[in-house]
Amino acid sequence: MEEPAGVSPALDGLSFDEIGERLAADGVSRAHALPLFRWLQRGGRREFEGPLERWLAARESAAVTRVGTVTETASGDGWTRKFLLSLPDGAEVETVLMGFPGRFTACLSTQIGCAMGCVFCATGQMGFSRHLRAGEIVAQARHVAAAVAERHGERLRNLVMMGMGEPLHNFDETMQALEVLTDTRGMNIGPARVTLSTVGHVPGILKLARHPKRYTLAVSLHGASDEERGRLIPVNRRWPLAQLMDACREYSAIRGQRVFVAWTLIGGVNDDLAQARRLAALLAGMEVHVNLIPLNPTAGYEGRAPAWDDVIAFQRVLQDAGLPSTVRQKRGLDVDAGCGQLATRRL
Ligand code: SF4
Repeated sequence: MEEPAGVSPALDGLSFDEIGERLAADGVSRAHALPLFRWLQRGGRREFEGPLERWLAARESAAVTRVGTVTETASGDGWTRKFLLSLPDGAEVETVLMGFPGRFTACLSTQIGCAMGCVFCATGQMGFSRHLRAGEIVAQARHVAAAVAERHGERLRNLVMMGMGEPLHNFDETMQALEVLTDTRGMNIGPARVTLSTVGHVPGILKLARHPKRYTLAVSLHGASDEERGRLIPVNRRWPLAQLMDACREYSAIRGQRVFVAWTLIGGVNDDLAQARRLAALLAGMEVHVNLIPLNPTAGYEGRAPAWDDVIAFQRVLQDAGLPSTVRQKRGLDVDAGCGQLATRRL
């Protein structure tokens, strides 16, 4: 794995067992791991004493990944918030809170920039800077959880790894962060409420299929032939559709889980009936659910949103082929909540 450059791991990126090992290695009782882990993940008042307080005080600067709010933008209805957060090394990362009454979801970033270069994506147009550390991913969730508690008096329960970056390209740090975030002694997010969104990182899908925790996998397709998909997603040249579909089938077979397929509908590019039929043929016999997402236009991409009639006609083709599908609501359009859009606008 490419090591995140210049960023040392903070204690809040360590699992409960790792915290216990660190304490024990320094002669501090493992019994202190529980209050320390809880505090690192949930925050609150620091009321430690004796050996634990001394141990923590000696590591003050490396305990918690501190993030600052560069900008915070709210949608008109106030339920969606987009945060541009600064990390300890000055890098900026974006995190989104998507809220419905009783259901709050954090959309987390896993990299600064992205190496995948999808042409419709503002992050892809920034290029890749570095992977995020687990603590930096955890810190985003903590930031959103605090906003949910403060503004709505509720708890953050869902995560989507769909912000800046390709999470499976930063597999180890992303999995480490999720291990921490799903721990019942900390933030306690149920693994079934975690979705990993990939643009088709085949080695990562195969590793995820064998991972002990059952997270949800979402694969962005956007094109049902190599030629069409390759125009939008350059990494299709590295992992062509046949390989990607094989990896999805293997994932479903090993896990007994369906794969969510994301298809961004771009007006005049991939929203016609012929493409819908190709998609239906590609997915025939697979355990999938298709999410159709009308394009959220970005400043750096000239594609346009599809006509609503075309969205409905596209979905009807999938329905007729027996494929379950949903048209995703355009949540957060007015806060630039498509991945990478806020950071890019500042740049
Ligand atoms: S859509 Fe996702 S994978 Fe593609 S460039 Fe943007 S952040 Fe990267």
